[in-house]
Amino acid sequence: AALAAELIGKTRTVPDWPAPGVQFRDITPLLADAGTLAAIVGAFADRYRNAGIAHVAGLEARGFILAPAIALAIGAGFIPVRKKGKLPWRTVEEQYQLEYGTATVEIHADACAPGERVLLIDDLIATGGTMMAALNLLRRLGADVVEGGAIVRLPELGGAARLQAAGLPLFTLCDFA
Ligand code: 5GP
Repeated sequence: AALAAELIGKTRTVPDWPAPGVQFRDITPLLADAGTLAAIVGAFADRYRNAGIAHVAGLEARGFILAPAIALAIGAGFIPVRKKGKLPWRTVEEQYQLEYGTATVEIHADACAPGERVLLIDDLIATGGTMMAALNLLRRLGADVVEGGAIVRLPELGGAARLQAAGLPLFTLCDFA
């Protein structure tokens, strides 16, 4: 609860970015503070240290900041989930809906082995669409996706319920109403 209050207090809300009407929750002040950064990574490390996680999959771009730090702390490897066209080798891809239009994410076809326990990490969950697409990709490779983790959840956008309905529990460090 103390960590949640700290995270909410230090997150910067930027009105009308990247588009009019959007209240962007900027987590860069959390990352810049040495103590807060350690507390964030520590909270995930404590939860997953003995959970038999083989790989931590991070979502481009802000998930790339956290996922390798968590992976190092728990003795797991890192898998990048990237926007289409960035990975050099054979990939599997998944398209998903944005508010306007669609987006596509990819992972390498050999990113993980069937039955492997994988943790999915991003900075923030809004509608859950991005994490759902990553979940589908990893499941197509046969991964056992254990949980989704993020710093912030925007509860009114329903992402947690949507992921829960797809069988993915969500663990977040704070809620931003
Ligand atoms: P969703 O797919 O859950 O609707 O949106 C979450 C994705 O969009 C995440 O990859 C996240 O980085 C990005 N995102 C959407 N809104 C925000 C926001 O207000 N702040 C931050 N930091 N990321 C956001």
